[in-house]
Amino acid sequence: MATLFTRIIQREIPADIVYEDEHVVAFRDINPQAPVHIVIATREETPGLAQLPDQGDHRAILNAARLIAEQQGLKGGYRLVINQGEDGGQTVPHLHAHLLGGRAIGWPPG
Ligand code: AMP
Repeated sequence: MATLFTRIIQREIPADIVYEDEHVVAFRDINPQAPVHIVIATREETPGLAQLPDQGDHRAILNAARLIAEQQGLKGGYRLVINQGEDGGQTVPHLHAHLLGGRAIGWPPG
């Protein structure tokens, strides 16, 4: 069964898509934690960072994050986060990164 994010990528579930290329699709998080909160999901259904293959779409996440940050005008900086597994706070088992910006992001995370 397709993951939630695959269903967004395939346009079965609506989302505010802000960027896509052959490897990743990026859309606004439905529960934003910052003025700009964008999920960058791989087209491939890798469950998470722990299952990262040697080759594949995940390599495009960093490049997409840089391009989206420029597109969104995040001149003051931003944070890129990948949650892995239960302790990492991951809720959707489909590899993705969160791009957070538009305010100062605190450290350490909760
Ligand atoms: P994670 O907890 O790292 O797995 O991140 C999953 C993210 O997906 C959460 O921040 C959710 O708010 C977000 N999310 C869940 N459903 C949707 C949706 N339909 N559209 C956009 N973002 C979603």
